[in-house]
Amino acid sequence: MRRAYDALGRYLNDQTQVVFAARLTGLKAPVTTAKPEGTLSQTSGVSWVPYTNYLPFHGQVMQLDTSPVPLADDDPVVPGSIVGLGLFCAKELRPEDRLEFADDELDAYGMPAIRVHYGLTDADRQTLEHAKGEIVRLGQAVGQPLDDAPILLPLGASLHYQGTTRMGSVDDGTCVCDPDSQVWGVSGLVVAGNNVIPTSTAANPTLTSVALAVRGARRIARSFDESGA
Ligand SMILES: Cc1cc2nc3c(=O)[nH]c(=O)nc-3n(C[C@H](O)[C@H](O)[C@H](O)COP(=O)(O)OP(=O)(O)OC[C@H]3O[C@@H](n4cnc5c(N)ncnc54)[C@H](O)[C@@H]3O)c2cc1C
Repeated sequence: MRRAYDALGRYLNDQTQVVFAARLTGLKAPVTTAKPEGTLSQTSGVSWVPYTNYLPFHGQVMQLDTSPVPLADDDPVVPGSIVGLGLFCAKELRPEDRLEFADDELDAYGMPAIRVHYGLTDADRQTLEHAKGEIVRLGQAVGQPLDDAPILLPLGASLHYQGTTRMGSVDDGTCVCDPDSQVWGVSGLVVAGNNVIPTSTAANPTLTSVALAVRGARRIARSFDESGA
């Protein structure tokens, strides 16, 4: 059995996430109400709070003026004045966080049913506690918090699943493909997507996946050039 299969479906990674909301105070209502419904205010957008060793999370401060759900009891409020804060935490990676396909059970699509084995380590819980404290501090820094405590979203809620065909530089049983996405030992089989990201990330992963896929695609293109195909 190839070593790559030891890692297949393992090292499942998602970013645990805490969210909070605050109201920016002292904003004036727009002078005109002529804008069509759903138009973003001029101040709308997302600000990022960068990951650091001291703050091991990736943060987003998001203006929510097009939110379809009421954000505060006294909605409608000044557009752009309610901000959502989210912190994505980097998780400790472990082979036991994994997907298991059943031999004798099918899912709604008729495919082998998936069971997810996934949990937090003590270090993950510490990071989360740290994030909970920081997000309240962030909320207080930007305005008036709407709640007393932040909300911890359920595991998997960030939708940033990664790692189950992770890449690595050596076929040592901890990775499925090489840095160009070529699956170890199966010539011509390449994989792409969040699943190849091998490290514990905290930021939104799609751009990283695309960059890695481009690298793999260049290798395929080079191989055609070299073979004259
Ligand atoms: C509401 C929402 C908001 C998000 N916002 C962000 C964001 O702001 N930034 C960010 O980085 N990420 C965001 N994400 C996550 C983002 O969607 C993923 O990071 C990205 O799509 C992952 O790309 P992927 O190629 O790994 O997987 P996918 O995009 O899920 O692609 C997998 C593809 O495989 C196909 N497929 C599955 N099974 C089979 C099969 N058996 N046969 C053939 N095809 C199959 C699927 O149809 C799908 O097209 C968001 C996700 C959601 C749901």
